[in-house]
Amino acid sequence: MAEPQASKDFIREIIDADLASNKYQGRVHTRFPPEPNGYLHIGHAKSICLNFGIAEQYNGKCNLRFDDTNPAKEEEEYVQSIITDVKWLGFDWQDRLFYASDYFDQMYTYAEDLVKKGKAYVDDLTADQIAELRGTLTNPGTKSPYRDRSIDENLSLFRRMKAGEFPDGSKVLRAKIDMNHPNLNMRDPVMYRILRATHHNTGDKWCIYPMYDWAHGLEDSIEHITHSICTLEFENHRPLYDWFLDALGVYHPQQIEFARLNLTFTVMSKRLLLQLVNDGLVKGWDDPRLPTISGMRRRGYSPSGIRTFAKRIGVAKVNSIVDFEFLEYCIREDLNKTAPRYMGVLRPLKVTIENYPETKEEVDAVNNPEDPGMGSRRIPFSKTLYIEQDDFMEQPPPKFYRLALGREVRLRYAYFITCRDVVKRDGKVVELRCTYDPATKGGYAPDGRKVKSTIHWVSASDAVDAEVRLYNKLFTVRDPLDQKGADYKTLLNPQSLEILQQCKVEPAVKTCKPLDRFQFERLGYFCVDTDTTPGHLVLNRTTELRDTWGKIQSAAGPKP
Ligand code: ATP
Ligand code: MG
Repeated sequence: MAEPQASKDFIREIIDADLASNKYQGRVHTRFPPEPNGYLHIGHAKSICLNFGIAEQYNGKCNLRFDDTNPAKEEEEYVQSIITDVKWLGFDWQDRLFYASDYFDQMYTYAEDLVKKGKAYVDDLTADQIAELRGTLTNPGTKSPYRDRSIDENLSLFRRMKAGEFPDGSKVLRAKIDMNHPNLNMRDPVMYRILRATHHNTGDKWCIYPMYDWAHGLEDSIEHITHSICTLEFENHRPLYDWFLDALGVYHPQQIEFARLNLTFTVMSKRLLLQLVNDGLVKGWDDPRLPTISGMRRRGYSPSGIRTFAKRIGVAKVNSIVDFEFLEYCIREDLNKTAPRYMGVLRPLKVTIENYPETKEEVDAVNNPEDPGMGSRRIPFSKTLYIEQDDFMEQPPPKFYRLALGREVRLRYAYFITCRDVVKRDGKVVELRCTYDPATKGGYAPDGRKVKSTIHWVSASDAVDAEVRLYNKLFTVRDPLDQKGADYKTLLNPQSLEILQQCKVEPAVKTCKPLDRFQFERLGYFCVDTDTTPGHLVLNRTTELRDTWGKIQSAAGPKP
């Protein structure tokens, strides 16, 4: 089914208006500018889909740019992971992969320009003093005693800062704007600080580093970006973005802000995710429980499912929180169309079919009922099978229609079987003795009799052993950061990972490679985990089949 054309969002309306007025000579050029200080998450995916999506739609361009101006927290590992993730999502920056740090020389020249124009000065106050003198929303700021240094003195001091003549933190370069400005960001913001740190790209070349607000607009300007799309928290930085570019008189992109994506039952900021990783509360950045792109890839989420999700949540000007279940819904819908079906048993219960011969046969199974083009396969069937433990009950309650003593059910694609006897060990059911009706081959009775349920199974001697990892929500509460001061790390769900070691899956799964996705009938979508070795198959459950999003929707009543 083709995706219905979403109504135009406010960003695309701005772009349309700019195209109509020829503001950028018909160009549309966006960028995705991650700071390489962690792995990307689903919030970044929203931004990636938006920026690259707009470029595609308007026949424009989108750059991938590493906003690597802070050497303290940035690493090459993060750069590589970001490249992998953006590609995996299906986007292409062609030859436009840039590093903000490649512009350090140009930025420095621009800073000297501002000094020469009397619009920037070197300040000897400490960071604490600067913060203190900045004032508050209700109180004006206080001018630094160093604010009126001459242009020559400022130029000389700034050059000496760059030359490494002063210790870390002893001086900064500040823009000379307005200490009484109602917007605190405009009260002489810091442009450069002194910091001796090795940069992942420029090494030890620099001991002064530009601050984000100074650097970001310059990066956009240097790359001739038309629309610089960022999240809402930068809205009151826009006057500063504009001030720097106007003060320099250089090419000036349009900054546009949209609401960042928040998702229930998780945290999204790289800083918080890093803590979970560093504290060992999850198993690395690609832990399938994390909302990181690498975690979602490993869990079996598909790029197209994530792109659909990003499209459907749209862009807005107001912050909100999206139900995690809606993301799952989009993934499930996508996998339903593309994932081959297999059978697997998570908690095996042995079934012996007493009247079945010692020989074997193969039965036909459809690979994907949603897509006949995916064909069919043959599954071995034999006298000894495994079924799911909870598909049998000794004392079935009224609405339990699956297997029970004396009851007949259908084995998917195979035969009707009837349970005749139960073998127990230490009070626990360990085996079912059943009979089959040879006339029901393929799962239908020629006499037209019906059974109330169909269950999945695997042939015991053909089954492949697997470890299966089941995932639940990472946190126990919808919004772990809004819990009246409770540390979000204490709100982790102790049941977020359940490992089943004794699973039995049909032999065809052996042909799957790491990260291949499929459905186990009745159980959900799964994929092969990267921990798989030739002797040890590890599977992740991506999502269950049950649509919890639909439930949330109907509980909330009809949508307008
Ligand atoms: P984090 O707080 O997770 O570190 P960030 O905004 O600091 O996020 P950046 O690397 O600076 O991370 O982000 C790169 C781009 O992704 C920016 O344009 C940013 O606005 C966007 N982005 C980050 N988080 C989200 C989100 N939750 N929803 C939408 N866009 C986001
Ligand atoms: Mg950040």
